[in-house]
Amino acid sequence: MATKTIDVREYTVRAHKRLIHTRVFNFVCKECNQATKRETFGPRPLYCESCRPLQVRKSSLSESRKIKPRSMTYKSDVDLD
Ligand SMILES: [Zn+2]
Repeated sequence: MATKTIDVREYTVRAHKRLIHTRVFNFVCKECNQATKRETFGPRPLYCESCRPLQVRKSSLSESRKIKPRSMTYKSDVDLD
């Protein structure tokens, strides 16, 4: 069996759409220590709806689009890469 070394070019994945799902997390709010439940995309939330810092959502999403994708820790089984 012959082998040889070839050059593999670096490439980027084209932008594409992917269907992702929300999941409901039951957790204890970091702020008020109440057991609560929230439905989110992505990682487990830290705060309940009332303690949640008013950020996240659209601004951070569009911001992160411009930055080179980094490996993020998702607790879900959804692969966003
Ligand atoms: Zn709370």
